[in-house]
Amino acid sequence: MKIQNPATAAILGEVTVDGHAAVRRKYELARAAQPKWATLPQKKRLDTIRAFREQLVTRIDALAHTLTQEVGKPIRQSRNEINGLLARIDFFLAESARTLRDQTVHTDVAQKLEERISHEPLGVIANISAWNYPYFVGGNVFIPALVAGNAVLYKPSEFATLTGMAIADMLHASGVPDDVFIATLGDGTTGYALLRQPVDGIFFTGSLATGMKIAAAASKRMVKVQLELGGKDPIYVCDDVDVKSAAAAIADGAFYNTGQSCCSVERIYVHHAVHDAFVAAFVAEVKHFKVGDPLDEKTYIGAITRAPQLAILKRQVTDAVRKGATLQTGGDVIKRRGNWFAPTVLTKVDHSMALMRDESFGPVIGIQQVQDDAEAVSLMNDSEYGLTAGVYAADGKRARKILDQVHAGSVYWNCCDRVSPRLPWSGVKNSGIGLTLSTYGIETFTRPKAWHLKGA
Ligand code: NAD
Repeated sequence: MKIQNPATAAILGEVTVDGHAAVRRKYELARAAQPKWATLPQKKRLDTIRAFREQLVTRIDALAHTLTQEVGKPIRQSRNEINGLLARIDFFLAESARTLRDQTVHTDVAQKLEERISHEPLGVIANISAWNYPYFVGGNVFIPALVAGNAVLYKPSEFATLTGMAIADMLHASGVPDDVFIATLGDGTTGYALLRQPVDGIFFTGSLATGMKIAAAASKRMVKVQLELGGKDPIYVCDDVDVKSAAAAIADGAFYNTGQSCCSVERIYVHHAVHDAFVAAFVAEVKHFKVGDPLDEKTYIGAITRAPQLAILKRQVTDAVRKGATLQTGGDVIKRRGNWFAPTVLTKVDHSMALMRDESFGPVIGIQQVQDDAEAVSLMNDSEYGLTAGVYAADGKRARKILDQVHAGSVYWNCCDRVSPRLPWSGVKNSGIGLTLSTYGIETFTRPKAWHLKGA
């Protein structure tokens, strides 16, 4: 498999893909190694993650360079991602022991009865990952999974293979045995081969379309399945905000990572009283973004990682304009080597347009005017997805009332495109099932075992 730089179309390297037989061998190695890993004292497993953290700190510039080269992410954003993973690791290091400790939940002295809960690892898990934040979406799974005593068969996205290989090298150098964390390389065919192994859990991050295939394949066996899928995340701007600062923050939420984030702002609704002022401030902000060489420290908009996404973005823009939208800026592919799309803003949009219904996953956004809060809530909920949703409002009571009615895994007041290790990361509707992060995202890699002990 050739690894290509999406910003320049240069070939960065070539790797050998794991076919079904190779995946099978890797599965067998992981299966044999997992029990020993699980019986190590938890502190020893945590020490390996601490050492992995050190490696990330020491190698951050080289790792960020590799990530930028293979996915086209602006270099500062690559470093931010790795730094963000450090914070998540700190959370897992601080919380795992307490979360996974055995608990006595009931005692009855007269009956000599004790009821306890312990947390057993699931066993061997498949971690099938996306390319847009490989350190985040991978780390949310493999770090707590390893700490809990699981072996991990990790499939990085074919678009983030070099980063996946670097992660495996660093974990091994940090003391995680080679057969406890194993990378399997390749595209969906390798992922499918992984699903055909009798793993004990499937943890997937990616698109809804692939998620549905994973769910269908997984239905053959009774194993835990988590699917972290896409979003069409809305923001509503109320009439009591400081329009300029709201526009700056929301533009960042929509265009950071070149709009290729699961929780990017993908739809904006604005109260009619501030609509025109908001649009003017927002478009000025977007025109200001520096598009260009992802290795340049000043670049804010990088390349589109997957070439087929260019046609999807173009189709959404054309469909919207044909149905009456106004193109405020951008609107087309940028003609240069690699995959580039101009930051694009459309107004006078509505829900008949693919732009407001389907995940864009790129630097393209629609702004729709609304009459009141009730209309905003109704439009925000008019989506097959439900990952995140936010409100910009000066009045906190009003924001809370709106967010109470919105169907989403995460809700934001005066912020957006934000993930915290302390909070559960999950979606409703077609944004997925299961969760990562928070203490729930540690427990999820274990099976709570119920102990009924009489005569103690
Ligand atoms: P994708 O679905 O194309 O691929 C994801 C992974 O699945 C890759 O490793 C791929 O090789 C593998 N795969 C593909 N077909 C497979 C099959 N039939 N069987 C097994 N594995 C298969 O998604 P992507 O382009 O890598 O990521 C972008 C999508 O991920 C977006 O929709 C985005 O919103 C979503 N995402 C969600 C979250 C979240 O936390 N909810 C985070 C990041 C990305």
